[in-house]
Amino acid sequence: MKVSRRHFLLGSAAVALSACTGGGSDDSEARPTLPTADPAPAPSSTSATVPAPPLPAGVFGLGVASGDPLPDRVILWTRLLPARGEVPAVDIPLHWEVATDQAFGEVVSSGSSVAAVADGHAVHVDAMNLRPDTRYWYRFRAGDQVSPVGRTRTTPADDAAVAGLRFGFASCQNYQSGRYGPWRDAAASDLDLVVFLGDYIYEGAGSPVGRGVVRSHRGGEATTVAQYRDRYAQYRSDSDLQAAHAACPWAVVWDDHEVDNNYANDRSEDASVPSAAFLERRAAAYRVWWEHMPVRLPHPDGPNLRIYRTQRFGTLASFLLLDGRQYRTDQACGDRTLDASPACPEVTSPGRTMLGAEQEQWVGEQLAASTATWDVLANQTVLTNVMLGQAVLNYDQWDGYPDARRRLVDQLRRGGKTNRVVITGDIHLGAVGVVTHVDGAIRTPVATELVGTSISSGALLPVGTEGLISGFPDVRYANLRNRGWTRCEVTPEAWTAQYRVTDDETSADAPLRTDATFVVRPNRVGAERQ
Ligand code: FE
Ligand code: CA
Repeated sequence: MKVSRRHFLLGSAAVALSACTGGGSDDSEARPTLPTADPAPAPSSTSATVPAPPLPAGVFGLGVASGDPLPDRVILWTRLLPARGEVPAVDIPLHWEVATDQAFGEVVSSGSSVAAVADGHAVHVDAMNLRPDTRYWYRFRAGDQVSPVGRTRTTPADDAAVAGLRFGFASCQNYQSGRYGPWRDAAASDLDLVVFLGDYIYEGAGSPVGRGVVRSHRGGEATTVAQYRDRYAQYRSDSDLQAAHAACPWAVVWDDHEVDNNYANDRSEDASVPSAAFLERRAAAYRVWWEHMPVRLPHPDGPNLRIYRTQRFGTLASFLLLDGRQYRTDQACGDRTLDASPACPEVTSPGRTMLGAEQEQWVGEQLAASTATWDVLANQTVLTNVMLGQAVLNYDQWDGYPDARRRLVDQLRRGGKTNRVVITGDIHLGAVGVVTHVDGAIRTPVATELVGTSISSGALLPVGTEGLISGFPDVRYANLRNRGWTRCEVTPEAWTAQYRVTDDETSADAPLRTDATFVVRPNRVGAERQ
């Protein structure tokens, strides 16, 4: 069945396309230009009969991306937007193809789609009928223009034993505070997957270059669809970020800055903003996030969008991709930071939540049902306890939600499993922690936490507090100084995490180095430094 489907696709669009491209080339720099009158009879195609309107040059200026891979399919993404000129305000037909080789000699899946005006000319294609655990190349064509070529891969079958997974996780890429050297490094690392933990954009207004501002945001603080779109377009115009997207599939969740700093559910950072007005902004922000991310999620309609979901990699790893912003209770005690006085009573009031009741229940069910070698929580804020006595140093983190953390820790320790790893972003520092269940004097480690530093966003804490952070009983390592990403090599026996950092975030070309390497084993909670 699968074979005949593949041959059908090969027999129609693919053969016609390879005839047009003259067989393609191994050199991905030499992008073939396809004639507009391409007669390719693509399945369910309209592109052959509805010619595209004239398009400005460089219409694939934001590159391509792929994401949410499954054993038989993967999401392909692009958005038509050139650096100069405008895309006509009409729906634009386009064609896509997936091949087993970079030269597109063997196209195994192809079809037509539409870059809709309503979506800002963003396109999501779910390319199906692919083989599991296989590398593919993909590209789009609109009018006579062909996109850059992206590389992606499907995941192994859900029940397949897997020898290894090489993935990276990252977060917090403020465009203003650094170049994307870490993405250049990640793009060159032959990864199977990137997990992005949020703060893809920062919503704030542009600041002049200087005092930690390396390059300026365009425009004021984003609050509307048009403004968020322009912000994503500016970020995605960066060639290192484009390269990282084109190198492998991503699994993406958001944090706060995709909407508004430290928002909580329907509460803006600015307490004077009425909930109804903030939800309108949230709807715009969620919609534009969806437009720009290679995600297999329903088209957003209004202020709510469920993005928490699983990403599996055979029997080796199961990622629970979490949303710690949309459902949370407002930060307690005025959302103070670095205040050493004892926490106000609000912080321990019962019922406060980080994930919301439904997501919490879902996490418990997923963990209980999982048979994966590694169960991974892809999470935003720090879960490890870093309280200073009775003081909460950052009310935005799990420390500010002790009752919710206790419930999550109970879920993590159920069944006595030792294979739980939490990967965390948001806090702009690299660290390793141990999530610990405390019952009087009995302390039981329940999960290992790997906190990744920011891609570019500046340190939130003074570098002098590094000793304080790494001195907490449940913390093994802290690096506040460096920007970077975390490279993970995961096998059934060991999870090796390399903290890749740059010493000059103002330079896109500065080399990255490994600041620290930690190894976690599935039968023991905690990471050992190598
Ligand atoms: Fe951030
Ligand atoms: Ca954040």
